[in-house]
Amino acid sequence: MDDVFCKIIAGEIGSDVVYKDNDFWVIKDLNPQAPIHLLIIPVKHFTSLEDFAEGNNDELLGKGLKVAHQVAHKVGIVEKGYRLILNEGEDGGKLVPHLHIHLLGGKRLGPKIVK
Ligand SMILES: [Zn+2]
Repeated sequence: MDDVFCKIIAGEIGSDVVYKDNDFWVIKDLNPQAPIHLLIIPVKHFTSLEDFAEGNNDELLGKGLKVAHQVAHKVGIVEKGYRLILNEGEDGGKLVPHLHIHLLGGKRLGPKIVK
């Protein structure tokens, strides 16, 4: 695939990597919407959650949430809290066609998640 996340994982594009293992990379968002804004990206390419749900990937999703939690610990926001967001499709505001989860924190986030 030739989306930006696959290129980052292939080493073709640089990024600010906070965590990585065989299944997930966590990088800093280039346009942070909060003091801490990270992206949890599966190494294996899934275009969408639909794509993901078609396969037998339940364990991988569980691991992704665990990675999010571990990284939240690493950056020190577990006690104060944080937010995970998964944008899907055009109306959901997804910008990169490679499944990913946003991790936001570092300040008190408002109750609104839509503008
Ligand atoms: Zn990809």
